[in-house]
Amino acid sequence: MPAIGIDLGTTNSCVAVFRNGRVEIIANDLGNRVTPSYISFARGERQVGEAAKEDSTENYENTLYQIKRLIGRTYDDPSVQADMKLWGFTVINDDNKPKIPVVNSSKGDLFCPEQISAMILEEMKNTAEAFLGETVTDAVITVPAYFNDAQRKATSDAGVIAGLNVIGMINEPTAAAVAYGLDRQSENERNVLIFDLGGGTFDVTIVKITGHKFDVKATGGDTHLGGEDFDNTLLEYFVSEFKQKHGEDISENKRALNRLRVACEGAKRKLSSTTQAKVQLDALQDGYDFRSNISRAKFENLNYNFFERVFDTVKNTLSDSGLKKENIDDVVLVGGSTRIPKIREMLGKYFDNIELKRTINPDEAVAYGAAAYAFALGSDEDPALKGFVLEDVIPLSIGIRMYDGTMGFVIPRKTKIPTKLWETWHTSEDNQTTVSFKIYEGERTLAEENHFLGEFTISGIPPAPRKKGQGNVLLEINACGILHVKVIEKITKNSNEITIAGAKGRLSDSEIKRMVQEAVKFRKRDQELKQRSDARNALEDYAYTVKEGVDQKHLTRQQRESIMSKVTEILQWLDINMTELPERSEIEAKKRELERVVE
Ligand code: ADP
Ligand code: MG
Repeated sequence: MPAIGIDLGTTNSCVAVFRNGRVEIIANDLGNRVTPSYISFARGERQVGEAAKEDSTENYENTLYQIKRLIGRTYDDPSVQADMKLWGFTVINDDNKPKIPVVNSSKGDLFCPEQISAMILEEMKNTAEAFLGETVTDAVITVPAYFNDAQRKATSDAGVIAGLNVIGMINEPTAAAVAYGLDRQSENERNVLIFDLGGGTFDVTIVKITGHKFDVKATGGDTHLGGEDFDNTLLEYFVSEFKQKHGEDISENKRALNRLRVACEGAKRKLSSTTQAKVQLDALQDGYDFRSNISRAKFENLNYNFFERVFDTVKNTLSDSGLKKENIDDVVLVGGSTRIPKIREMLGKYFDNIELKRTINPDEAVAYGAAAYAFALGSDEDPALKGFVLEDVIPLSIGIRMYDGTMGFVIPRKTKIPTKLWETWHTSEDNQTTVSFKIYEGERTLAEENHFLGEFTISGIPPAPRKKGQGNVLLEINACGILHVKVIEKITKNSNEITIAGAKGRLSDSEIKRMVQEAVKFRKRDQELKQRSDARNALEDYAYTVKEGVDQKHLTRQQRESIMSKVTEILQWLDINMTELPERSEIEAKKRELERVVE
């Protein structure tokens, strides 16, 4: 059974497999090699990808997108609060976890981001199964290099809900580096800078590539910066223009906002190849049409701060890697937003007009690398991946809060993964019997200013003077970049392992289990709908065949009339039941009725 690589993107997802000595990008049933990360619900039906995206302007309340911007985040996260205002769907606060209510036929559903991401993963899995003609469960899922522990864990949970066995996770720019390295086929050592600017996230990674050995030197990024932010600045700009022109505020009108957002994205893309773009929407609000123009210069000006931020990250990451820009041999562009001319211009200038590599497809490179990695994790070998070694690093330091509130750094950032580090601990008071550990990730001196991961305690410590109660704590990061913590007391050997699940917003095992069952239910519902729709098509087909064949047969007038009246009756019945599909048995019964008349 082959293992697949899935690039689960904010905007687009892509799936690939390594077989017969090469990576194949798998097209979906519409023939497209990337699938929009969109899900929509309507009339009890769930749509994924293109169909859902097309639905987004009309059925905006029940069309979900950019879910990667929610995953692993809490409701009160400022970025969640800001994003929510621009989305057509609603996000509610469930004990500080963001959840999304949708209206699905008459009944409502409440989803957490992991479930929605799972639906996209499942679609990618189905795409791969249709292509390979066999069941697929093993998969590598990609994550932005700068995703934190909570975001990684939530993504891996989504994989489980989708019925996948997540054999590994790989950082997106690292995966792109693998794609680039495999494509180059050269033994020479090269320092490659991967610049991945997609829809929702930005990553920059510096990798030393020697043959098939990939050694990540440094990584930096922003998990909330990408093409969607550029769309949003345009959106805000046009909202205020509309207000000026017509005195109407559309910021509360979700339908209008959504239509305008789609138009903004289109205009932005257009500006990558032309210098002017039009935005035209009829009857945007209260019968007022919206007609406007935007120039490339204006677009660049509106997003200047974002572009600057991107370059600050490039500079920081470079200095982190210990390399100078002269040491960078290749700059590789990944992600749809690297098509923006200004970004290319700024990059080219910064690297003294080094040629920007476009040999790999910016939309497919991540899935490509993930598929190669998925194959390499298995026991099979292939000459095309001979000597494959991947050494990645953690993007953020992991530490424990000290007694004085400072961060005790245990695993410094840029440490190669997988990694394990033991640290000692001791009590701070006389006769202290319990010690609690608060784990954080980040670089700030005060623990509280970093990102809180979880907390747990060890109790039953034998009474002793301060500092005499002692033990060890193990921090372990696996190849997926996910953290496990274990603490041991020296004398009793009592131990405790962190359930980082205690951290707010993280799913518990029982919740995941429940969601797996729900996903199965959804799958069944989808299958049933498919069967109904197949039955409907079969009936319609049959009715038309009979109708067309009736003249050719030697029939009496009466026979012909009775057949034709049945055909007409059935076609009318199909017409009435166009949107809400009847039960499969009902449809099949109709077919039998017609068959009897024909006989
Ligand atoms: P992700 O990996 O985050 O899903 P992608 O790498 O697929 O994202 O990139 C999607 C983003 O790229 C979207 O914001 C889209 O608008 C943007 N994009 C695609 N083509 C162009 C273009 N020609 N010019 C500017 N932006 C583009
Ligand atoms: Mg991407």
